[in-house]
Amino acid sequence: MHLVATQPIAPGTLIMQEPPLACVVDDDKLNLLCSTCFRENAELRCSSCTVNHYCNVSCQRKDWKIHKLECKGFKKIAPNIPNISTRIISRILYLAYLQPSVLDGVGQAGKRKQEGLGSLLSHKSDIPQDALIAFGNIIYRLKFIMEHEQLRPASTMMELYCIYASNCMAVCNDEYVNTGVALYPLLSSVNHSCKANACVVFDGPQAKLISCQPINAGEQIFISYVESFTGIAPRKSLLKSNYFFDCRCEWCTGNDPFGFIRCKCGEKANNHAECANCGRLNNIPSLEIKDPTISTAMLEELYLNAKRQLWDTNSELFEIRREYFHRVLRDQSYEKCYKLAIELANSFVEVYGEWYPLTSIYNYYVFKTAQHVYNAEAMEAAKLYGTKACSTLKSTHGGLLYERANQELRMFIADMNMYRK
Ligand SMILES: [Zn+2]
Ligand SMILES: [Zn+2]
Ligand SMILES: [Zn+2]
Ligand SMILES: [Zn+2]
Repeated sequence: MHLVATQPIAPGTLIMQEPPLACVVDDDKLNLLCSTCFRENAELRCSSCTVNHYCNVSCQRKDWKIHKLECKGFKKIAPNIPNISTRIISRILYLAYLQPSVLDGVGQAGKRKQEGLGSLLSHKSDIPQDALIAFGNIIYRLKFIMEHEQLRPASTMMELYCIYASNCMAVCNDEYVNTGVALYPLLSSVNHSCKANACVVFDGPQAKLISCQPINAGEQIFISYVESFTGIAPRKSLLKSNYFFDCRCEWCTGNDPFGFIRCKCGEKANNHAECANCGRLNNIPSLEIKDPTISTAMLEELYLNAKRQLWDTNSELFEIRREYFHRVLRDQSYEKCYKLAIELANSFVEVYGEWYPLTSIYNYYVFKTAQHVYNAEAMEAAKLYGTKACSTLKSTHGGLLYERANQELRMFIADMNMYRK
């Protein structure tokens, strides 16, 4: 299955939106996020199982039909809490227990459906044996949580698990930090390309498909299941291990403009980080920059070193820039912060375009942080990037964040004009 544009689509257009068939918050966020709407500071705890948290009684009520069954299961194995995969699979089974048609077509060869879970491919034959064994263990353990009549034949549950594993989506917040996992039967028909022309943003667990590039009539719509702006090798291995396929998109078959180490001089370096013009590139940052124990001074040194040697939209430089940005943001070093945010926003534009959700967010970061730096240059940057953010946020993130940003920008411009007088 795939999705094709029937008419030209301008960037920033909402193509479709879909509520999740099932969703759960991440294991380490169960105490923080509302299990219904995924918002933070969910202070109401289910008094019966003490596992799920909610914003208020209204969110708790919305979840009760399924949680009533889930809650009993949690109590059976307390104080242990089932992991995220077990929780989402059990929720789908509870849903199917209340509404049996949910599983129509699942595990019934030759009875693929037009829509719903039964329309999704399980890719079972592509899933490695050790992963299938792990899936089997999870399914086996459902017996200790769920009632006999809520379970399905082992082969159906295995098929369901493979469908889940091949089609689930990580849900994230406005800044693309993961909050949970969900299954969207309709959105699952959108194929992957590392060079995507659309992306998914979330409003709580509601998913919205938004174009981030112009799409012509007849063109297929693609999203990227992983962060595309990385080297080809880590990206391909992530797609293989998480989604069980070999990507053969334009970028992965040799035309990736960002998937290699590029020297400051513009030359493509070889696999040993050697540039034909400049010689060896030293201390190219790798994943250890994510280590929270690295000091800010050390991170700064790595960043400046990378910036001296690498092309501006190099993915290694980009990674460390993002890491360093979040560190100085935490340290409230706003002067450094807003300049890094500008560099990041510009990189996002170059790689993904103006209408990519993170472009909006980093434009907004420039606006917010530059306001803390009291000089004319920073004020101009705040105004410019605040205006950019407001022109895209409505499409990329919808109402709430857009309203807030818009109001902040109006106030900022009014203040700026007063100051000038
Ligand atoms: Zn809520
Ligand atoms: Zn409960
Ligand atoms: Zn690819
Ligand atoms: Zn060079």
